Amino acid sequence: MKKISLLSIIISLVTLLAIVGCQPEEEDNDTSPTDENGTEVSEETSDVVIIGGGGAGMAAAVSAAEEGAEVVLIEKMPAIGGNTIISAGAYNAADPERQAEQGIEDSVDFHFEQTYEGGDEQGDEELVRTLVENSLDTKHWLEELGLEFEDEIDSVIGAMHERTHYPVAPSGTGYISVLEDTANELGVDIELETKAKQLIVEDDEVTGVIAEKDEDEIHYMAEDGVILATGGFSKNIEMRTEYDPELEEDIPSSNQPSATGEGILMAEEIGAELTNMDQIQILPIANEHGGLEGSTTINIENVVFVNQQGRRFVHEDARRDVLADAVFEQEGGYYYLINDSQIIEEENEYGESIDELIDAGSVKKGETLEELAREIDVPEEEFVETIENFNEAVEAREDEEFEREVFSNKIEEGPFYASIRYPSVHHTMGGVSINTDTQIISQEGDPIPGLYAAGEVTGNIHGTNRLGGNAIPDTMVFGRIAGQTVAGMEEGDEVLTGVGQGYGGNIEVEVHITDDEITQVEVIEHNETDRVSDPALEKIPYEIVKQNSTEDVDTVSGATDTSAGILEAVEDALE
Ligand SMILES: Cc1cc2nc3c(=O)[nH]c(=O)nc-3n(C[C@H](O)[C@H](O)[C@H](O)COP(=O)(O)OP(=O)(O)OC[C@H]3O[C@@H](n4cnc5c(N)ncnc54)[C@H](O)[C@@H]3O)c2cc1C
Repeated sequence: MKKISLLSIIISLVTLLAIVGCQPEEEDNDTSPTDENGTEVSEETSDVVIIGGGGAGMAAAVSAAEEGAEVVLIEKMPAIGGNTIISAGAYNAADPERQAEQGIEDSVDFHFEQTYEGGDEQGDEELVRTLVENSLDTKHWLEELGLEFEDEIDSVIGAMHERTHYPVAPSGTGYISVLEDTANELGVDIELETKAKQLIVEDDEVTGVIAEKDEDEIHYMAEDGVILATGGFSKNIEMRTEYDPELEEDIPSSNQPSATGEGILMAEEIGAELTNMDQIQILPIANEHGGLEGSTTINIENVVFVNQQGRRFVHEDARRDVLADAVFEQEGGYYYLINDSQIIEEENEYGESIDELIDAGSVKKGETLEELAREIDVPEEEFVETIENFNEAVEAREDEEFEREVFSNKIEEGPFYASIRYPSVHHTMGGVSINTDTQIISQEGDPIPGLYAAGEVTGNIHGTNRLGGNAIPDTMVFGRIAGQTVAGMEEGDEVLTGVGQGYGGNIEVEVHITDDEITQVEVIEHNETDRVSDPALEKIPYEIVKQNSTEDVDTVSGATDTSAGILEAVEDALE
């Protein structure tokens, strides 16, 4: 499937020989010379090279291949999946029509508001918009590929609302198996146990990546672009301590051993801007080893959290950082998640049955509340009173004590269950900065030609706190966009950004150029007055593309400042 033209082999050989400094034997046609250490060095060329085979990388691979690109995906582990495959699969998307059937009110705007404000407005507004506006459509794309979701819309801890969709298959396995099957059908070349070490930059453009496989070195060259989808760095203790010195080393992590952040470091090495690197999420609902298994549920609408005094200590629908801080303050640094029999299904999100959980000792059971209190060794009277007070709050849909807002059932039908839960290091919100086309942004603020990113490796979406259930849509939405964008890039395509002064402040534009022609002008950020500025926002970009220049474009009367701001921004981009 890979395109290796004779010319590219010759160029590659010359390049490689220059790199490794050795001469070919006479009449030797070997394209895999060795370096001075005896390491074999070879080169492969395709349209798109993707680094990392988790959710973002696999979504990018499928979408690029759907566009007709030849795709190579390299994955350092013996299997694809990354954190995505061990995730709980929770996928947030506002689907107001279906939510209304369950009596839930929601909208894309409310999802935006909760995501942006839930991250203390430290994410990029445009990226958050892109995420929430595309998550439902991308869910439908996954369904078309064969992924089945449950009918019921739920929540997940830290989601702050009931807009979470769960696949029928346990944990994150469904996403990966559907994407893997499709990638195979579309001829994506997936190379396992192949670790990216360094990006290749030629004339300021990323043209490939140097990878290591079985101690050999392979240069994966990309004609259209390289997509970084290497995930976060929760498992790299040195790196997480460097960015958040207060984060204790011995807090376990929920992540796969592969979450070590090399993608971020490789991009930084060639001048990428890093954002929000000190924002590391603690998940307050893990088992003592850091994983999410071992609990009756990870939803919050039907549970209360109770400490060793038999008391609630936080509103369970809070942000994850608020919950984690509250858990750290409890004696022993753990708590019990309490629920009744109404929500017990055949299996939890990780495919564990209630009997297995009880046998393993991670869940305790009591036929009555009093019996459960004795099982978990909390004061009986206080515990029963706590549950009674909670049930009154459910009835009134008002929680005077903690101001919780998400309610569903009362805790009233025995048997009752308690899952012991701890905090664990879960998600690194920081990483490389991208724009809405998933191009990686340099420290100078410009897109780095040839380099794209999606998923947890990126750092300017979730701000200080990622909402539960927002990461999987992030990987799928931006992975899909990355694949489409890179595969859609033609030889000679460029995307430039510029800023101009409008009526309400800065106007930011993206200017797409193909072979010296302006093919698209997009206003990506502005604070202009609604309606008044609309004619200029529509007409000026259109005229610039039509005339392939800003020179003879007239301003729009009634919106002259906006017109001038767009023209200035485009000129700035073209400079
Ligand atoms: C236990 C757990 C449960 C979660 N549950 C949810 C949930 O229910 N809902 C939700 O929204 N989010 C959840 N999350 C978060 C979410 O799963 C992750 O943020 C998301 O899956 C990250 O996807 P990704 O593709 O960016 O990275 P990953 O899925 O981690 O994939 C990155 C891949 O890149 C590979 N890689 C790394 N470096 C290199 C290299 N140098 N060369 C080659 N390959 C490399 C890795 O081996 C890995 O396979 C959960 C996370 C965990 C750990």
